[in-house]
Amino acid sequence: MLLIPGASMRYLAGYDALLLERLTCLVVLGDDVAPVLVVPALERPAAVASGVVDLGVDIMDWQETDDPYALIAQLLPASGVIAIDNHMWAETLMRLTAAMPEVNHTLAGSIIDELRVRKSVGELDALRDAGAAIDRVHARMSTWLTVGRTEREVGRDIAAAIIEEGHVSVDFVIVASGPNGASPHHEVSDRIIEAGDVVVVDIGGTTPLGYCSDSTRTYAMGSVDPDFARSYTALVASQEAAFQAAIIGATAESIDEAARSVLTAAGLGEVFIHRTGHGIGMSTHEEPYIVSGNRTPIQPGMAFSIEPGFYVEGQWGARLEDIVIMTQQGCERVNHRPRELVIL
Ligand code: ZN
Ligand code: ZN
Repeated sequence: MLLIPGASMRYLAGYDALLLERLTCLVVLGDDVAPVLVVPALERPAAVASGVVDLGVDIMDWQETDDPYALIAQLLPASGVIAIDNHMWAETLMRLTAAMPEVNHTLAGSIIDELRVRKSVGELDALRDAGAAIDRVHARMSTWLTVGRTEREVGRDIAAAIIEEGHVSVDFVIVASGPNGASPHHEVSDRIIEAGDVVVVDIGGTTPLGYCSDSTRTYAMGSVDPDFARSYTALVASQEAAFQAAIIGATAESIDEAARSVLTAAGLGEVFIHRTGHGIGMSTHEEPYIVSGNRTPIQPGMAFSIEPGFYVEGQWGARLEDIVIMTQQGCERVNHRPRELVIL
C-alpha cells in the first residue's frame, strides 16, 4: 500500500507530512516486512522528529537528482496489486505506473477506511475535545456577529478565535447572511449584515492531535420572519429525530430518512438539498456518509455529523449541525451549544 501525506498517513504512522511536489510516500509492504517511509532528503529531519522510527518504520531518503519512483519500484515486487492512496495526485500515480508497468492498482481506502471509521477510545476523546473547542468559538459569536459588519470581517474574527480556542488550523469558515444562506457552502463575502437577517455560521478546524471539528449554528439578527421561525422549529425537530434514530445497528440511510421525513412533513423536503451528514475524524469528511443508499450499520466507535438544513433561493437558509459519536452506551453529541434559533 502506498500512502501520500494526508490523514491516512498521519493515522497509520503519526507523521503529519507536507504534501509537496517532492514525493513523500509511506510504503506498507505486508505483515513481516518493516514499512518504508520514502522522503526527500530535506524532509528527513521532520520525518525523524515525527517518531516514525519508534514505530518500526525505516526511513529512506532521496536526493534532488534521484528518481523516487525508481526507488519505490525497487521496494516492491514487479507484479501484483498495489493499494494506492485515494487522494494521490494523478501525476504521482502516472509516474509510479511508468516505473512499475506490470503492477495493478486498487484503492487504499478499501483497506484503511475500515480502520479509520471505527475510532478508539482515545480518538473519541480527541473528537470530544475538538467539539468543545468549536463550541467555545460559537459561544463568543455575539462579540463579532453584529449588524453593519461584513461577512468577511466577521469571518476573520471567527478564524482567529478558532485558533485561540485550541485548534492548530482553520479548515473552513462559512458566514452566510440573508439570501447567501441559501447556498450551503457559501464562505464569506463583502455583504453587510442587516437587521432581520438570518446568518448561517458553519465553522471547523483541526486540533493539535489531528482531529477535526465542524459545527453549524444559525443566528438571527433581531426578530425574524414568522415563516422562517416555523421552518426553523421543524429543523430542530428534524435534527433531534436523526439523533434519536442513531442507535447501534441502525443503517446510515435510516438516520438520513429520520431527519428528512420531519422536514418533508413540514413542507421543506424539496429545500433540504444535501445528505444529513458525514463521518469525521482526521478528515472533516470521511466514512460513514449519512445518506440514502448507505446501508452501513452504525457501530460503536463511529463519529459523524447530523446537519439537516433548508435553503430557499433568494430568501434565506438554515442548518443545524452537531457531531455525534457512537459508544457502547449509545449516541452522544460532542457539540452542546443551544439548538434553538440564537437571537443576537
Ligand atoms: Zn459543517
Ligand atoms: Zn459537516
